Amino acid sequence: MNETIIKEIVREIVYKVSMSLDMETGDNGVFEKVEDAIDAAYAAQKLWYTKYKMEDRRRIIEAVRAAARENAKMFARMIRDETGMGRYEDKVTKNLAVIDKTPGIECLTTEAISGDSGLMIEELAPFGVIGAITPSTNPTETIINNTISMIGGGNAVVFNVHPGAKKVCAVCLQILHKAIVENGGPANLITMQREPDMEAVNKMASSPKIRLMVGTGGMGMVNALLKSGKKTIGAGAGNPPVIVDDTADIKKAAREIYRGASFDNNLLCLAEKEVFVMESVADELIRNMCGEGARLITEEETARLLEVVFKKKNGVYSVDKKWVGKDAGIILESIGIHDMECRLIMCQVPHDHPFVLVEQLMPVLPVVRCKTFEECVQYAVIAENGNRHTASIFSKNVDRMTRFAKEIETTIFTKNAATLVGVGIGGEGHTTMTIAGPTGEGLTCARSFTRRRRCMLADGGLRVI
Ligand code: NAD
Repeated sequence: MNETIIKEIVREIVYKVSMSLDMETGDNGVFEKVEDAIDAAYAAQKLWYTKYKMEDRRRIIEAVRAAARENAKMFARMIRDETGMGRYEDKVTKNLAVIDKTPGIECLTTEAISGDSGLMIEELAPFGVIGAITPSTNPTETIINNTISMIGGGNAVVFNVHPGAKKVCAVCLQILHKAIVENGGPANLITMQREPDMEAVNKMASSPKIRLMVGTGGMGMVNALLKSGKKTIGAGAGNPPVIVDDTADIKKAAREIYRGASFDNNLLCLAEKEVFVMESVADELIRNMCGEGARLITEEETARLLEVVFKKKNGVYSVDKKWVGKDAGIILESIGIHDMECRLIMCQVPHDHPFVLVEQLMPVLPVVRCKTFEECVQYAVIAENGNRHTASIFSKNVDRMTRFAKEIETTIFTKNAATLVGVGIGGEGHTTMTIAGPTGEGLTCARSFTRRRRCMLADGGLRVI
C-alpha cells in the first residue's frame, strides 16, 4: 500500500467517526426528523436570498466544488462498499464530472426589453426550499450536482436520498455543508433526514414550506411526485437504444458502444442499453466489440441468464434488483462461465426480448439484427418506450441521423460517440445527474431551479436612448 492510499483510508475513518458523532446531535445538515430539516432549510433560504450577494453564491459554490473534489475518491469507494454496484474508477470520473462541469451562477441570465414604453427586465429568482429525491445509482454525484445547481439558483434543499446509499449520502452532505458554513454561508442550506423513507417524501410534498419537488430516479417515484399536486421537476428512467447503420465507422462504433455500455456497469440512465444494427454490418460490429473486450454469449447461455437476472410474474418480466450494477464477471459466474476480466456481456436476441424492452442497469448488452434502417428505427422507438431520455446513432448519413432524431424525440441524442458525451463526460456542454425528460427542463442547471420574475419600469427613466 502506498502512502497516498493509507492517507485516504485514514481520512475516511476520521470522517466516518466524526460524522457519526455529528449525526447524533443532528448537526451539519443531517436531522432525525424531516420536519426539522425543512424548518432549518426554510430559515437558511431566507438568509441566503436576502443577506447574500451573487458573489457570495459564486464563492461558496467554488468551496463546495473544492470540498467535493478533495473527497471524490472516498465517495467512490464508499458508494461501491455501501451499494455493491458499479465500478470504483468510473464513480471517481462521475463525481469529478459533476464537480467540474455543473454550471454555477453563470447560467443565470437576465433578459431585458427596452422600448418606447419603458424598460422591462426578467430575472431568475429562487423557488425557495426544494425537496430533492436522489437515486442509488448516482448517489453523491446527484447530491453534489443538485447542491451546486439548486443553491446556485438561490434555493435551499432538503434531500431524501435512496435508503440503499444513505450513509455515503449523509457523509457527502455533511462535507458540503461544512464547506458552505466554513466559507461564510448559512447553516442548513442543504439538509436531509438521516433515515430516508416514503413518509418523509410525503411530508416534503405536502409542506407549504417546500415550493418545488425534484425527483431523480425511476418512473414510479417520478409519477408519484407528479401526482402529489406540488410543482415537480421529474428526471426519470431511460432505456437508450443505439442504431448502427451500414455507413458507420464500425471500428469506432464498437469502441464507443463498448466504452459507454460498460462504464460503471451500465448504471447510468443514459448508458447504451440495446443495439439495433443493420444485418450487413452486424458480424463486423460484433467481431469488433469482442476485440474491445466484450464477451458474446450463446443463445442457450442467454436463455439461462434471463432466468437468473430477471423475475417473471403474471407473464411480465422485471429485473431482479440484486444483479443491478454488478460486474460482468460476477454475472457470468451465475451461468457457469468464469471470466472475471470481462466488462461487458453481449447477446444476440430478437427485438422484443426482455433484455431489449426492460431497463436492466447491468453490463448486459442485447444486439438486434435488422434488415433495413427503417426496421432499426421502428424497433428502437419501441424499446425507448416513450421515456424520451437518450438515444444514439452511428452513421455517416445525415438524413438518417435527422430521421432517427425526429422519430425518437429524446432529451439527449448523440451521434458517433458513447452517450456519455451527451452529459458532458468527454463531450461539449455541461454535466448534470438530473436529466428532466418527463417535465421538459432537459439537462438541468441552476437556471432550471428558478422562477421568472418581471420588473417593469414605465416611461423610460433608466434608459439611455
Ligand atoms: P428508484 O426509483 O428505486 O429510487 C429513486 C429514489 O426514489 C429513491 O430515493 C427512492 O427512495 C425514491 N422512491 C422510490 N419509489 C418512490 C415513491 N413511490 N415515492 C417517492 N419516492 C420514491 O431508482 P434507483 O434504482 O435509485 O435509480 C435508478 C433509476 O433512476 C433508473 O430507472 C434510472 O434510469 C433512473 N435515473 C434517472 C436519472 C435522470 O437524470 N433522468 C438519473 C439517475 C437515475
